[in-house]
Amino acid sequence: MIKEAEFAIEVELLTKRYGKYLAVNNISFKVRKGEVFALLGPNGAGKTTTVEIIETIRRPTSGQVRLLGMDVTRKKHAIVSCIGVLPQGFSSFDRITVRETMQYYSRLFGSRHVDIDGLIALVNLTDKAKEQYATLSGGLKQRLGIAIALVNDPEVVFLDEPTTGLDPRARREVWDVILGLKKKGKTVFLTTHYMEEAELLADTVTIISKGATIAMGSPDQLIENNADYLVLTLQSVEARALEIIARMGFRPDQNTNDQTILVRVAHTDDIRKILNAIQDGGASFLSMDVRKPNLEHVFLKLTGEALHQGAAGEKGAP
Ligand code: ATP
Repeated sequence: MIKEAEFAIEVELLTKRYGKYLAVNNISFKVRKGEVFALLGPNGAGKTTTVEIIETIRRPTSGQVRLLGMDVTRKKHAIVSCIGVLPQGFSSFDRITVRETMQYYSRLFGSRHVDIDGLIALVNLTDKAKEQYATLSGGLKQRLGIAIALVNDPEVVFLDEPTTGLDPRARREVWDVILGLKKKGKTVFLTTHYMEEAELLADTVTIISKGATIAMGSPDQLIENNADYLVLTLQSVEARALEIIARMGFRPDQNTNDQTILVRVAHTDDIRKILNAIQDGGASFLSMDVRKPNLEHVFLKLTGEALHQGAAGEKGAP
């Protein structure tokens, strides 16, 4: 009797070299069936390389990778029929309608009996079914891409940066679709640049940097394990407040777009000292808030890098 794999994906000591360049260095992680798993890392961390090895597109240099218990280097055909993939920068035929696109990909994947209208409804594109691909907004195109990834009714769905470049509303609509996939019992493997996306959607997060794993756990666990500081945010602050805070030995981050200053402090007492010093120095600010770190801060702390440009200063980041 074949023992059903407990994990959807098992990656053990995976290494990938491109010539002499070490893109992925001995990383290990497991993805449980039915969970949303997020792989996070700065540009060039090795995310796409890792995902494409699991998808059987690239070969590992060394290590073991199994999908639903199958070795990705030996069971390529079987694996491809169990997975759906939304690649980074997905695109389709400009002049073909949403429904025609779905019909075409169903034929391409040899998937008969596909409930095309059901899939179109799942990604909330029913009222766009007769529209051509070129006329769709970025968010609608991505949702079509997700529907295409589902034509073979895959058990595991890979979404490589599904919301990059989308506006906040379109991003939220894609998140709803991803939560819908989870409800249907799919395992979702997500790579993303957006921390709030991982925090909201993922059951498990793995952070990689320079090809190596640096943290793993649920978003709550990662925050709890790293919540040894507070973030003070001052809004509409005068420039000289920055100097005052820096002279006190703190390292304030300034977002020049909205004149916001973020300061990481160890104790609430530090906040009192900073506010007093700003007042004594005759500088002013409009408002302030104090928060525990979120995943964005954890990521910055662990990697020393912003996940994407402007991350630290993004609205709502603290
Ligand atoms: P991004 O967030 O920018 O997509 P990533 O984390 O997905 O980055 P990868 O695309 O896996 O990173 O790339 C990891 C490193 O390997 C990068 O330095 C990249 O330039 C390099 N690399 C990727 N593919 C190849 C290739 N085919 N040949 C040589 N080097 C490569």
